[in-house]
Amino acid sequence: MAESDDSLALAAEGARNENTLRFLKSGARGLYIGGRFVPSLSGKTFETINPANERRLAMVAEGGEADIDAAVAAARKAFDHGPWPRMRPADRAKVLYRLADIVQAHTEELAELDTLDSGLMISVTRPAAQGIPDALREAASWANKVQGETYPTGTDHFSFSLREPVGVCGIIIPWNGPAVLAARKPAIALACGNTVIVKPAEQTPLSALRLAELISEAGFPEGVINIVTGFGLGAGSALANHPGVDAMSFTGSAAVGQEIVRGSAINFKKVMLELGGKSPHVIFADADLERAVPNAALGVFRNHGQMCFAGSRILVQREIYPEFAAALAKFAADMKVASPWDPDAKIGPLVSAAQFERVTGYIDLGVREGARLSAGGRLDGGKGYYVRPTVFSDVENRMRIAQEEIFGPVASLIPFDTEEEAVAKGNDTVYGLGAGIWTRDVGRAIRMSRQLRAGHVWINGYGLRNEMAPFGGFKHSGIGREGGKYSVEFYSEMKSVFISV
Ligand code: NAP
Ligand code: MG
Repeated sequence: MAESDDSLALAAEGARNENTLRFLKSGARGLYIGGRFVPSLSGKTFETINPANERRLAMVAEGGEADIDAAVAAARKAFDHGPWPRMRPADRAKVLYRLADIVQAHTEELAELDTLDSGLMISVTRPAAQGIPDALREAASWANKVQGETYPTGTDHFSFSLREPVGVCGIIIPWNGPAVLAARKPAIALACGNTVIVKPAEQTPLSALRLAELISEAGFPEGVINIVTGFGLGAGSALANHPGVDAMSFTGSAAVGQEIVRGSAINFKKVMLELGGKSPHVIFADADLERAVPNAALGVFRNHGQMCFAGSRILVQREIYPEFAAALAKFAADMKVASPWDPDAKIGPLVSAAQFERVTGYIDLGVREGARLSAGGRLDGGKGYYVRPTVFSDVENRMRIAQEEIFGPVASLIPFDTEEEAVAKGNDTVYGLGAGIWTRDVGRAIRMSRQLRAGHVWINGYGLRNEMAPFGGFKHSGIGREGGKYSVEFYSEMKSVFISV
């Protein structure tokens, strides 16, 4: 069912690109299975909402168990009998390079669809979408680097290893970077010769479906990439539990991560989990405060706090605590909360009503737990799921707001005295995704970076990324690492070959 032009114009307010509007106008979106767009077998659809104005953007096919069966069958056939895993790596890379070129001409509509669907600011989604073509090219460049080794032997035999694709890979993604994750996560799996099934988040299916249209032009053999929209309990769980899926790559919450691990037991799937965090950002008294204050603020408020590695626990050394707390509160209060299309906006709406309830619930909880609200709080009235950037000071690490992942623009300020105390408090969490350190003392920076139990440590610059560096978490923040050769290791199986001489 197509939306009426009037209601669509209201729902898609802010979008300018013709292709965005054409895509939204063309009606209900199907699943992409075996190289074709098909309705769900049940005929069911679900709506996707613009969180800035709470209006319906589109109806999307609701994939379920039977659709996942069909997608796994298509991916299995493409893997077992199709050309993709068998073709020259350079030819696989060519298809990915072609997709990169196609996407390059359409990044603006992917950005607009993400802003409409997720509420993320266009100032964030635009550069993110513009980075997709290079991420695809980077993945393509790995196609001919999926290598084995030879091993020293006596004269009796010769022995070497091969890296072969794992097979059919399930990829489940969240809503906080929809287009980028829908493109980047499968790309490296594909470069390695696997076939994939992607399940986008129910809140943000649109850019993945537009991407599916672009994928259909790039020349992949049928069944190599399949995109099945639907709910977590439904399409997601069917994929995670499917005996025909050889590997699962999941980005999302720790609770669902446990479901993915349970699902893997049925056939011993390889599992990679990129989960959440409650990352400490430690500010020592000798820090460059002019840089540390905005960096700490954006370390938690960027993407409206909807970031796996949000530095949501800001640990500040006692001597500078009052000054730092005041500066952070002022920074937060000065951030403009506005439409995600407003070029001056620093905070747009949260992704959904559920996320709004969750985040504001935590803000109420922080007050009840006895933390001091120094900036932000609920923003009542009006349409859209807006929450102001919120700072709690005098937080104790045992409080729930300091232990549980809020996934919204809420910072907890925690004082400390000594380096040892900073390490102890920093590590006092079940998570271990990121950790930040601000100090001018090199020795301390190195001591801290070795003692903090986290997959990433940022010294004097929170959130830096490098696609070649391993990305992933300790403890409840996940299993495995993504990025460059670490992704290749996950998306391939090693085989040892022995030849009698
Ligand atoms: P979520 O519930 O874990 O959802 C993530 C994805 O899993 C969605 O596609 C979801 O489908 C699906 N899903 C839900 N239940 C499932 C099940 N039983 N079996 C299989 N799939 C299932 O997470 P969220 O609350 O929407 O998203 C925010 C979370 O993601 C945060 O906790 C954040 O820390 C984490 N995250 C981590 C990273 C990282 O790199 N470590 C990056 C981004 C986000 P539905 O959309 O239908 O629920
Ligand atoms: Mg939406």
